[in-house]
Amino acid sequence: REKVIFISTGSASLDALLGGGVQTGSITEVYGEFRTGKTQLSHTLCVTSQLPVDMGGGEGKVAFIDTEGTFRPDRVKSIAERFGVDPQAALENVVVARAHNSEHQMELITALAAKFAEEQGAYRLLIVDSILALFRVDYAGRGELSDRQQKLNQMLSRLTRISEEFQCAIFLTNQVQSSPDASAMFAGGDKKPVGGHVMAHASATRVYLRKGRGEERVAKLADSPDMPEGEATYKITVGGIMD
Ligand code: ATP
Ligand code: MG
Repeated sequence: REKVIFISTGSASLDALLGGGVQTGSITEVYGEFRTGKTQLSHTLCVTSQLPVDMGGGEGKVAFIDTEGTFRPDRVKSIAERFGVDPQAALENVVVARAHNSEHQMELITALAAKFAEEQGAYRLLIVDSILALFRVDYAGRGELSDRQQKLNQMLSRLTRISEEFQCAIFLTNQVQSSPDASAMFAGGDKKPVGGHVMAHASATRVYLRKGRGEERVAKLADSPDMPEGEATYKITVGGIMD
């Protein structure tokens, strides 16, 4: 097994929580309510992945699957400025694909795997923001849940294989259950991610994001192969995620 690289989130405290950052070779999932910074963290990682390893980077290119139409080139540019990277060059190292439905999302992942193979070693990170949004639309009907979970399982298996085959990090954002009843919560009042067991099984690292006081956001490590549970605070700024 090749050496694991940790890609910085932009926040030292969040990196510390994760044992250094987002790991290559497995799936990291962040989930939380709207405006907790899932998409902003995704944009920050687009830049940090390109940095030298000794600066918390992965020295590699990024693939970004956008399922909600929330990718913003200008955000990548201003985050690049923060890190002293040429904004246009940073943007050119991010290949962005907009997925229109869950089947299309799978096709894009397959196409990206082929691209990763073509450019061996060039890509260090694959982002899907958000992993389940289109599935929830495509399989909205009653009785469609098992079909959805089966397709989701296939997609996550594919992503796991990509992370191992190309030693890249897979970074997934996810939504939380919205129903107000207790089954949508973990003990302690934390919201649960959607995707059930299939999602829980595939994600090696799971991070719950929530709003804190004022502009503050709080990340809680919910599952990790090698780090203890804990919390970190971070902020969303023009330069991306920060302490
Ligand atoms: P959703 O579930 O709706 O996708 P999300 O978790 O992806 O939400 P983000 O879009 O990452 O949320 O974060 C939105 C937050 O980021 C807002 O509070 C917004 O004010 C903040 N934000 C966005 N752009 C900037 C910026 N340029 N400077 C500072 N804060 C910003
Ligand atoms: Mg978002």
